[in-house]
Amino acid sequence: MSIKALRSTFGPNCHWCGLPMDFDEPAGRPESATIEHLVDSTFGGIRSSKHRRLAHAACNHARNEFRMQAERQFEQWIAQRRVSEKTLTENQTNV
Ligand SMILES: [Zn+2]
Repeated sequence: MSIKALRSTFGPNCHWCGLPMDFDEPAGRPESATIEHLVDSTFGGIRSSKHRRLAHAACNHARNEFRMQAERQFEQWIAQRRVSEKTLTENQTNV
């Protein structure tokens, strides 16, 4: 589905912020319309399909950035959890 086709299906507003997008050429500006790929898993994860929606380049970019930040924070949390778990086990052995 092209940007044009998505626009006629879902309208000219951003999927995330709901504000109108810029469809003028050249694309690549923050307010330009970009294709956002949404992965939708059904219950049980048996079927997953990709949905396409339109979003501002800025919103699309921000979403990716925040997701990456969240992923990094989670990795840090996991690392800390492993360390504290190890300390806990060592303390128990000492007792
Ligand atoms: Zn937006």
